[in-house]
Amino acid sequence: MEALKDLRADIDALDHKLIQLFAKRLELVSQIGKIKHQHGLPIYAPQREIDMLKARREEAEKAGISADLIEDVLRRFMRESYSNENRFGFKTVNPDIQKIVIVGGNGKLGGLFARYLRASGYPVTILDRNDWEHAKEILAGANAVLISVPINQTLATIERLKPYLSENMLLADLTSVKREPLAKMLAVHTGAVVGLHPMFGPDITSMAKQVVVRCDGRFAERYEWLLEQIQIWGAKIYQTDAAEHDHNMTYVQALRHFATFANGLHLSKQPVNLANLLALSSPIYRLELAMIGRLFAQDAELYADIIMDKAENLDVIESLKETYEEALEFFENGDRQGFIDAFCQVREWFGDYSEQFLKESRQLLQQANDLKQV
Ligand code: NAD
Repeated sequence: MEALKDLRADIDALDHKLIQLFAKRLELVSQIGKIKHQHGLPIYAPQREIDMLKARREEAEKAGISADLIEDVLRRFMRESYSNENRFGFKTVNPDIQKIVIVGGNGKLGGLFARYLRASGYPVTILDRNDWEHAKEILAGANAVLISVPINQTLATIERLKPYLSENMLLADLTSVKREPLAKMLAVHTGAVVGLHPMFGPDITSMAKQVVVRCDGRFAERYEWLLEQIQIWGAKIYQTDAAEHDHNMTYVQALRHFATFANGLHLSKQPVNLANLLALSSPIYRLELAMIGRLFAQDAELYADIIMDKAENLDVIESLKETYEEALEFFENGDRQGFIDAFCQVREWFGDYSEQFLKESRQLLQQANDLKQV
């Protein structure tokens, strides 16, 4: 016990030094943040990240330490650094902008964009649900109008904006579905139009590495500044057309949210106790429960609207039901080989991604295990 006590005291002393080193490192990153802010550089520098990790991995191996350990620690640092870099604000890409109105700006996503736009030096005014009687004053002189209202309010809201829009205004939206809102914006407005879809929720700590989908509407040269601004925040812009976007969202959003909802619904009706399941969880089950459970901490209306957005969603969900039945048949018929053959077919469909996903998920599982409490 004495020997342990001494060694633990040495470890505590080293940890103390590590904390001081961490603080120094964060201070250096902070200075980088200031310089990036002054020069309007994006907070995410992919090549610098790749080069730095490669060099540190090599050094770690030479020192006889696991390269993965060092990469894990550094990646966690980088995440912290990206969030810290937000503190200094961002360069104003378009200083000519006098006013941006966010319709629904008191909401979660509109609020996030209001914060980022203000941190980039733009005057932002909110037009929320109860502000329509002052809409004329609020929208007067706006250079850009950004719509971020619930999906089922979006088309009516765009229509309602019509009398207040002038040719020189940019009209944009952040809706999770793109085809109908974009068509509606193009119909009511003669000026510049762009549809955006941030592929993240409002609880992000930084936009570094996040994706924002861009569906072009009209007069792209008049909204390049906004896209450049979003890239300075660290996000990547992914350009696609609205129909293609919505088709892919059938899988990325509608099918996934439905399956997660159905899993939660099913579980809630089972004769099991969640605390017992948690106590007995393997890391992957813990992660799965977290993914299901987090849905129910969010907004039911948003998910309802995403799933109900278009007929294609229900067709694909219906085909999921059929696949469940087809999969069940292997077991009802004792068809072990049929199951194995189908399994191999799916493995082939995933191709090399299977191995890549195995590697990626291993890290997530280790993290889920790290977070376990007694
Ligand atoms: P939210 O409910 O938090 O915010 C919506 C805001 O709109 C609220 O402040 C509400 O008062 C306001 N509002 C409602 N009706 C209005 C009206 N007629 N006029 C003006 N304001 C009105 O919702 P959210 O999660 O911020 O979602 C907003 C938009 O962002 C949706 O189109 C959604 O698809 C999109 N989106 C959300 C997420 C997300 O994870 N939350 C992610 C990507 C995209």
